[in-house]
Amino acid sequence: MKRREFICVLGGIASGFWPRRRTIIAAMAAMVLLPIEASDAGWLSDVFKSSSKQAKSPKQGKPSKHVTSPKPATLAKRAASPKRHNIKLAAVGPVRLNPAALRPVAAACDPSKFRIVLDVGHTAESEGAISARNVAEFVFNLRLAKRIEEKLKAEGFAETKLLLTEGKARRSLVKRVDTANNLQPSLFLSIHHDSVPNKLLEDWEFEGKKRHFSDRFSGYSVFVSRNNPDFKTSFAFAELIGKEMKAQGLDYARQYTQAIMGRYQHPLLNKETGVYSYDELIVLRKTRMAAVLLEAGSIINRDEELKMSSPERQDIISSGVTAAVKEFCEPRWGILGPL
Ligand SMILES: [Zn+2]
Repeated sequence: MKRREFICVLGGIASGFWPRRRTIIAAMAAMVLLPIEASDAGWLSDVFKSSSKQAKSPKQGKPSKHVTSPKPATLAKRAASPKRHNIKLAAVGPVRLNPAALRPVAAACDPSKFRIVLDVGHTAESEGAISARNVAEFVFNLRLAKRIEEKLKAEGFAETKLLLTEGKARRSLVKRVDTANNLQPSLFLSIHHDSVPNKLLEDWEFEGKKRHFSDRFSGYSVFVSRNNPDFKTSFAFAELIGKEMKAQGLDYARQYTQAIMGRYQHPLLNKETGVYSYDELIVLRKTRMAAVLLEAGSIINRDEELKMSSPERQDIISSGVTAAVKEFCEPRWGILGPL
């Protein structure tokens, strides 16, 4: 039964939008946007179109405010300008930006006051995916989230909070969103581990029992929702995570653009960093702050499951996430001047 929800996260109902508390620099998001003539840049046009129209989701009920609401920074206003609708843009990794061409747009935050919620995916009752060796995804999620929490606190992010939720799957999603919205963090990061659709599962025997596996795919992936009220900041943080994962030598999961994934296909927003959009995810679109979901790796892949179980891999991933948060908090990147 658990295997039916292989992606381990559930989409849901249409959302409204709340008045938004701005925390950090909408302009940070723009650091990953450059004007180019790339032919595959169409997705971002949609992003900016959503300032006057709705985002692409057919389920969305109200106009998005995420680019039309007042911005404290002039540059952020400029980035949200309807004039941008006709500009072709594409996402590139910040690593490609020339620092000399950039200028700072926000003061560094104070790590001791910066609030990040680490959401442990699933619950003890609804454990998510099951690994090739019959270990619940929740176990992986909790272990990794705790490791990330330790690292962040060691780096001075004292306000890091682990969000553990109880109860059945869908109900727990609503609960965790409510809890996050009450905590009002600057960032929300949901930790998960990946699997595959049932049709791709194969049988094998482990410790004398029949189990399921698929060695076909591996890798991390990062998800954001274009329906999140602060999509731009969400995307900026997702890009930093993807960039840090890549810097750690990890590859992202490529299969989400493939037809074989059926209804689990998702648009790849940046082919360098492995950031996908998953617009309908409740924890990404109903959270009233920048929100990102990290599928840290595949636990249905027999080799990767072993790696994900190892302290070394957990260390690599938690270091990458911590570096991304630090970079987010201490922006070294600005955005380009007037285009
Ligand atoms: Zn999951």
